[in-house]
Amino acid sequence: MSGEYEQMWRDLGLNLEAHDALLGVLGKGYEDIFLSQKNRPAGMDYFNFVMSEVHSLRIKELLESQKAGRKVIGSFCVFVPEEIVRAADATLVGLCTGADFATEEVEKLLPRNTCSLIKSAFGFKLGQVCPYIESADMIVGENTCDGKKKSYEVLKTLVPNLYVMDLPQMKSSEGRAVLKAEYERFRKAVEDLTGVTIDAQRLRKGIDIVNGKRKAIHRLSALRKADPAPISGLDALLINQVYFYDDPIRFTDSVNKICTELEGRNKAQVGVFPKGAPRILLSGCPMAVPNWKLPWIIETSGAVIVGEESCVGERGTRNLTNDSGNTVDELMEAIVDRYFQVDCAIFRPNPDRLEHVRQMYTTYAADGVIHYGLQFCQPYQIESLQVERALEEKGIATLRIDTDYSMEDVEQLKTRVEAFIERISSRRAA
Ligand code: SF4
Ligand code: SF4
Repeated sequence: MSGEYEQMWRDLGLNLEAHDALLGVLGKGYEDIFLSQKNRPAGMDYFNFVMSEVHSLRIKELLESQKAGRKVIGSFCVFVPEEIVRAADATLVGLCTGADFATEEVEKLLPRNTCSLIKSAFGFKLGQVCPYIESADMIVGENTCDGKKKSYEVLKTLVPNLYVMDLPQMKSSEGRAVLKAEYERFRKAVEDLTGVTIDAQRLRKGIDIVNGKRKAIHRLSALRKADPAPISGLDALLINQVYFYDDPIRFTDSVNKICTELEGRNKAQVGVFPKGAPRILLSGCPMAVPNWKLPWIIETSGAVIVGEESCVGERGTRNLTNDSGNTVDELMEAIVDRYFQVDCAIFRPNPDRLEHVRQMYTTYAADGVIHYGLQFCQPYQIESLQVERALEEKGIATLRIDTDYSMEDVEQLKTRVEAFIERISSRRAA
C-alpha cells in the first residue's frame, strides 16, 4: 500500500517505519472488526474504501486542494464551526485521537492520568504518524475540559500553528456572549488564513453544506429505529467517524445512498441482527477512529447498538443551523445558537444531556443504556453517576463502563457487557 504514497508521507515529515506499523495494525483491526461482520449493507463498500484510503488518497486530495489555494484546518472537537471553515472554501478535518501511540514519549509531557483522547493527540504528533496534523494549515484546540485546556499549552510547543478557541462553561447569556465573541474571532482568523472575506452568501452556502451532512445522518439514525436493525452499530459509528474526514458533499451523497438501501431492507424486514435482538443506546465520551473496542464487544455479545449519544454521533450532529438570515451577523447568530445547544459534559449544570439520553432511549426503542467514560475524563465520568442514577430511577437499565484505549480489559468488559445483555433480555422476556 505504501509504495505509491511513500514520497507524499516523507514530504509531510512522517516517520515511515512507525507509520507503516500503524497502518498495519489499523488494517488488521478493520478486517477483524468490520469486514468480518455478516450481511453488511452494500453501501458500506464506499466507507470501506474511504477507510482504506484515509491516510493516502484523502491526504492527496487535501494536498491538491492546498496547491489550488484552499486551506486545511484540523480540529479536535465538535465546537469548531465547520460552517465558517466551508464559507472560506477551506476544509475541516477531525484529527486522530482514537488510539494510543508513542505513550512513553507522551508521558514525558503529560501526567499518566490524562485521558486517552488527549494522550492520543500528542502521541500521533510525537510519533509523526498523522498526515492530517502534518498537512493542516491551522489546528484548532478548544478550551473545553481542563485536560485539553492545559495540554494545549504544551501542544503549542509542538504545533506552532495551534489556534486556541475559548469556550464558555455555563449555558447563560454571558456564556452565549463568550461563544459569540469566540466565533467572531475565529471567523476573522479563518479570513486571515484563507484571504477570503466571508460574506452572507458564502456563509449560507457553508451552512447548507454542513446541514446537508447532518440531514443525511438524521435519515440514517431514523432508519435504525427498525427491528431488525438494518445496519450494525459498528457500521453506523464508522459512518459518523468518516463524517469528520471525507469531502462533505461526497459524504452526504454516500450516506443518502446507503439510506435508500436501508429503507429497502426495512421494508423487507432484513436486518444485520435477528429481530428481537437486545438494543443498546451508547452514551458518553466521543469515539474517534480507530476506537472501536466497546462497540465491538457489545455487538459480538449479541446486542445491537441503535444510537450514539456522543459527539461522534447525535450530540455532534442533531441540530441544524438556521440558514434563513440575510446578513453575516444574522447567520453568525444562527451558528452560535446551533452550537450553544451542544450538551457536552463540560457545561454545568447540564440537564439537557440527560433529557437527550432519555429521549434517544425511547426514540430508538432501546432496552438499555451503556455509558462509556474514558478513564481520567472528569466531566463525563462525574456526570455518568448522575446519568446512571436518573435513568435507573426511571426504570432504564444502565451500565457504566470506564475504560481506555488499551486491549487489556477486553475480557473483563466482555463479561460485564454479557451480564448486562442478559439482564435486559430477561427484563424483556418478563
Ligand atoms: S465531548 Fe465535549 S470536548 Fe469532547 S468533542 Fe464533544 S463537545 Fe468537544
Ligand atoms: S474525553 Fe473527557 S477528559 Fe478527554 S478530552 Fe474529552 S472531555 Fe476532556
